[in-house]
Amino acid sequence: MTADPSTAPIPMLDVVAQNAPLEEGIRAAFDRVFTSGRFIMGPEVQALEEELAAYLGATHAIGVSSGTDALIVALMALDVGPGDEVITTPFTFFATGGAIARLGAEPVFVDIDDATFNLDPAKVAAARTERTKAVLPVHLFGQSCDMRALRAAAGDLPIVEDAAQALGARCCEGAVGTLGAFGCFSFFPSKNLGAFGDGGLVTTMDDALAEKARVLRVHGAKPKYFHAVVGGNFRLDALQAAILRAKLPALEGWHEGRQANAALYDRLFAEAGLPPGRLRTPARVHARHVYNQYVIRTDRRDALQAHLKERGIATAIYYPRPLHLQACFADLGYAPGDLPVAERACEEVLALPVFPELGEARVCRVAETVIAFLR
Ligand SMILES: *Cc1c(COP(=O)(O)O)cnc(C)c1O
Repeated sequence: MTADPSTAPIPMLDVVAQNAPLEEGIRAAFDRVFTSGRFIMGPEVQALEEELAAYLGATHAIGVSSGTDALIVALMALDVGPGDEVITTPFTFFATGGAIARLGAEPVFVDIDDATFNLDPAKVAAARTERTKAVLPVHLFGQSCDMRALRAAAGDLPIVEDAAQALGARCCEGAVGTLGAFGCFSFFPSKNLGAFGDGGLVTTMDDALAEKARVLRVHGAKPKYFHAVVGGNFRLDALQAAILRAKLPALEGWHEGRQANAALYDRLFAEAGLPPGRLRTPARVHARHVYNQYVIRTDRRDALQAHLKERGIATAIYYPRPLHLQACFADLGYAPGDLPVAERACEEVLALPVFPELGEARVCRVAETVIAFLR
């Protein structure tokens, strides 16, 4: 296998390359919405919900306005509010903790597992109090949490799965998003299934919770103009739904492309013979990793990132600061050193390009550049 000999820039993501082969279907989807004039809810949203429920094996799939709003709708449906605590991870995108705080509840951050970056189930069990209302794990970077252990740790507490990065991932117990009270997904353009803007999905196996989420999505109206509860405008656009339907049949192929790129990185890094401990590749512990991100760890992270940038290779740091040390959560009283595994990850992680269209030659170029620097 030979590395890409050029010095052309390598981006983190190339949505234009991804959409090009689907141009006809996506334009047809746009035309359907154009012709129908149905922009809010309607048949495109309903059809997408049915297709995604079937894809995931979920009883209910409810299109919403974003992954963030999926979390908010799920927590609202579980009556999370002021005085409640929700146990979650500090090593995630801000929306996970932000959704809890916006409902007036308190995020209780517990440390992560060093190998997978996901919530450590033993620490979840230890963090339970009388006020704990739910547990909010994140299937980070496209790999499922240890849901069996988490369910045991949560006991009778509902679990809301933040599966924004993990549509299509599985663990031994099944597809993520079908294993807790709710699954929350995002169609932000950088996720494995991305819209042309914002969008999200809530899944559940429970009929009563599904009904609550559906009502919350439309300001709590049931019937229209009569409100027993206060909800919000959490609707998914018909146009986004139609575009996502055109893209969904390609999703499995994209997962496979990401997995092939990840496997090639793994092999090239393993064969490089780097000094022990200089580079850690992602652990693959649970059944099906869909590699929304391929994240390596090294104690020379910042220098490596600068080196790759000089050579035209884009990388990203997910995430540079854990949630428990964000300024907006200062009043929760956490201090540096409280959650050392997450804090150390923030200093060592670097996401390399892994998007499906990347291909072998560019994976080799990225890997060779990383190896040459770390040697
Ligand atoms: C992307 C993401 C979200 C939020 O999704 P949006 O659609 O951007 O609102 C929430 N949690 C995690 C872990 C994410 O990666």
